[in-house]
Amino acid sequence: MIKLRKRPPVPPELLLPKVSKRKKYLEQIINNANYPSSKDFTPYWRGPVKTAIWGHHRGKCCYCERKRDNNRESDVEHFRPKTEIKDAGKPGYWWLAYEWKNYLFACKTCNEDHKITHFPLLPHGQRSTGERTSLADEHPILINPIDENPEDFIEYSWFTIGKNGLLVKMNGTDPDGRGEQTITIAGLNRTPLMRERATRIRRMDLIIEMVKIGQKHPDLSVADLARDMIQDLTSGGSKFAGFHRAYFRAAGFDAYVSTN
Ligand SMILES: [Zn+2]
Repeated sequence: MIKLRKRPPVPPELLLPKVSKRKKYLEQIINNANYPSSKDFTPYWRGPVKTAIWGHHRGKCCYCERKRDNNRESDVEHFRPKTEIKDAGKPGYWWLAYEWKNYLFACKTCNEDHKITHFPLLPHGQRSTGERTSLADEHPILINPIDENPEDFIEYSWFTIGKNGLLVKMNGTDPDGRGEQTITIAGLNRTPLMRERATRIRRMDLIIEMVKIGQKHPDLSVADLARDMIQDLTSGGSKFAGFHRAYFRAAGFDAYVSTN
């Protein structure tokens, strides 16, 4: 996980009258002491809205940082779940179902197999129950990569375990356990993902060797090339940029790491 850029302006499709009409319809259900079900939420977040959030995330899942096609194996993820909240029950944050600021782009594995409707709060957090209650007092555990920098909460370690071979694990670092719980909620230490991250190490080791050769032989342009490669692998649009940044920093190449 890495910090994402500021949100672009709200796509015009979310400002259409049909969207506010649907929100009023949801409000009526709540006022009648019922709970809206999944089918009550017309998915106006699909189509151009999804394309906009996908583009903003540079085609990457906000949690696992794998590239995903806009039309396949991906979702608009409601950061605050709309239908229900795991451990808090129904309703969910129905009034945020069409809020641009509540959307992230995620792969189906992170969203549908792991995060689902999880949205725990820190012990002192006050659950918001409607539009008139504050979100600022909630203090969510889950890290929103647009509002906060996940790299302040998460680090990486790499090791070999039996038949699994080399694995790259994410570890939470903050005293409140938000990093660790975010990793658990989004399933970021699932074995295939830990293995896939590890496949990047060989390439990074070769680049580090290139830098060292370049330092010994300044007449060759190999150091510049290696620096460009590090910048590429650590830029926000690169798959697993968060791990690449941590690995190059651990090797002493912080100055070459891109944070864009
Ligand atoms: Zn994912």
